[in-house]
Amino acid sequence: MKALVYHGPGNKSWEEKPRPAIQQPGDAVVRITKTTICGTDLHILKGDVPEVTDGRILGHEGVGVIEETGSSVTNFKKGDHVLISCITSCGKCDYCKRGMYSHCENGGWILGHLIDGTQAEYTRIPFADNSLYHIPAGADEEALVMLSDILPTGFECGVLNGQVKPGDTVAIVGAGPVGLAALLTAQFYSPAEIIMIDPDEARLAVSKKLGATQTINNRKENALDKVKELTGNKGADTVIEAVGIPETFELCQYLVAPGGRIANVGVHGRSVDLHLEILWAHNISITTRLVDTVTTPMLMKTVQSAKLNPKQLITHHFKLSDINHAYDTFQHADREKALKVILTNE
Ligand SMILES: [Zn+2]
Ligand SMILES: [Zn+2]
Repeated sequence: MKALVYHGPGNKSWEEKPRPAIQQPGDAVVRITKTTICGTDLHILKGDVPEVTDGRILGHEGVGVIEETGSSVTNFKKGDHVLISCITSCGKCDYCKRGMYSHCENGGWILGHLIDGTQAEYTRIPFADNSLYHIPAGADEEALVMLSDILPTGFECGVLNGQVKPGDTVAIVGAGPVGLAALLTAQFYSPAEIIMIDPDEARLAVSKKLGATQTINNRKENALDKVKELTGNKGADTVIEAVGIPETFELCQYLVAPGGRIANVGVHGRSVDLHLEILWAHNISITTRLVDTVTTPMLMKTVQSAKLNPKQLITHHFKLSDINHAYDTFQHADREKALKVILTNE
């Protein structure tokens, strides 16, 4: 089969690899039908994730059809259409029992990281019973690719941890795919205002379409002054950090209103200053989380009932075999006005 293989920082190739086989009784082999590229894949390619070694097949998102199952798999059989979760979970360990699949002692984020991933014609999914989801007949499978990672990430790490409530003012720093996923799912709770902050005009225009009530271009204007102006000098009740650099996390600390929450979603590679000289008296909380994907079944129902339309995040389509071109487009997201790309295995 063909797969996108990592060969050290800056190096990847679309090449021939052996087709994966069942290794453990709980495994399933899935023929990928649609997959995508994540910002995390770009971090890996930059060399920011040293656990990823030469020869690893990248990718942790996608949908497909079950090709083969191990002897202990009971929920799935050959031919079933499935959604692959970016988090692999055994369902049996202490963390899984608490719904913290992200910290599963036997899994967690391993796909396209510690084991071969989904940017391939076939992939092996360990603990298939717990790590795959049935796709209902007639569902829009392209939309469901957004549920492998970005929708549960924006929702669990941003909206749930940020405790968005009716009437709240929400500020989201970063209008990339995950920030936009938080924007879409925050609307389950009818906040009064959702303010999107990003330096890219095209992404702010998309934000408006997807339900932002205000947008701030923080390259052109001072985001703090503007948020103060929009909130009667109070700040935002929930501030969601969806970038992952010190400057944006620092901004969140100034944007949060007394009594508010800062929910970090961004993947940080550097330390950040914590302004306790201001925040100590402001009754705020700060949360961090790696997505657990425990809300995936709920999100799937909201897509099925058209309450949520994650397809709006898809901007480009490629054949899976044209994946190098897709990476080039995704790496130049500003120039290409790219959000999520869909790769179809034909
Ligand atoms: Zn991802
Ligand atoms: Zn577990």
